[in-house]
Amino acid sequence: QAKGAGGNTYRFFTPEMNARIFERVTLENSLRRALNSDQIAVHYQPQVDMHSGLLIGFEALVRWHHPEQGDIPPARFIPIAEESSLINQIGDQVLREACRQNRAWQDMGLPPVVMAVNLSAMQLRQPEFASRIAAVLTESGLDARWLELEITESAFIRDTERIVEVLQQLQALGIKLSVDDFGTGYSSLGYLKRLPFDRIKIDQSFVRDLPDNADDIAIVRAIIAIADSLQKEVIAEGVEQPQQIDFLLQQGCTLMQGYHFGRPAAAGQAEQLLRRMQDKQRFTRESGAA
Ligand code: C2E
Ligand code: MG
Ligand code: MG
Ligand code: MG
Repeated sequence: QAKGAGGNTYRFFTPEMNARIFERVTLENSLRRALNSDQIAVHYQPQVDMHSGLLIGFEALVRWHHPEQGDIPPARFIPIAEESSLINQIGDQVLREACRQNRAWQDMGLPPVVMAVNLSAMQLRQPEFASRIAAVLTESGLDARWLELEITESAFIRDTERIVEVLQQLQALGIKLSVDDFGTGYSSLGYLKRLPFDRIKIDQSFVRDLPDNADDIAIVRAIIAIADSLQKEVIAEGVEQPQQIDFLLQQGCTLMQGYHFGRPAAAGQAEQLLRRMQDKQRFTRESGAA
């Protein structure tokens, strides 16, 4: 019983808080050791154009296999990495690997596709960020037009002027830019006008209950209309069902990503999708990869 815990009594560290801080510090330390080891891997999830049924690209997603704890999801370790500068090193490792892999597929004669890599706000704030990215492209031999960078809208809240400048430099290099998790942040629509970007990603939370939920229908329609009038591309995340595909196509959104087309998977499996595309196989509404 919390006897006498009312009034002005404060306990700065409850046992639960201690445990949480301990877990964080422990996780951060093991993450630091995991860097540049094979505990950190990159998986690839297909992005498709359901107008043609063709694969258009992959999103690179980081994976951490902890030696004792097994797979730890990004939702658990990315926030911790963002509180230290570890995110810069993780981001760098993922970017290099994804660019190298994409170039390797092109060297095998597979159809060229765009590789989308997630960026944290902190990475964008590194000095000379655009030059760093240019160096990674040179190192991997990947042409800039096959790289896309995904940035969540919450990254635009602070230092907007500076962020705009960096994004312009990236665009000048020929890299594509997309706004990730669109509609979930706290930022206003005003930033859309000021930021250079090519594509909006409709967050999966709005796609999940399509086509049954009236609010989600309204929101998704509105996002597609905004993208259209700003002449940006729009892609829906989290597509799992044929009914969602039907609805999105009706609304004019043909670019999609989600478990229906494929879960994030290791490079070998992604390569199989590229081979199927080379054989002119298409994604269909019934079965993801036909
Ligand atoms: P995100 O960038 O929005 O990535 C999409 C997430 O949705 C991925 O989760 C993916 O596995 C999941 N997803 C894709 N299709 C479906 C679907 O049909 N249904 C459901 N339920 N989920 C689907 P994941 O890989 O766990 O990543 C979570 C988040 O962690 C990412 O969200 C991104 O914000 C962050 N993240 C992942 N990799 C990186 C990275 O290399 N760098 C940075 N900075 N963040 C990353
Ligand atoms: Mg993303
Ligand atoms: Mg997203
Ligand atoms: Mg997300």
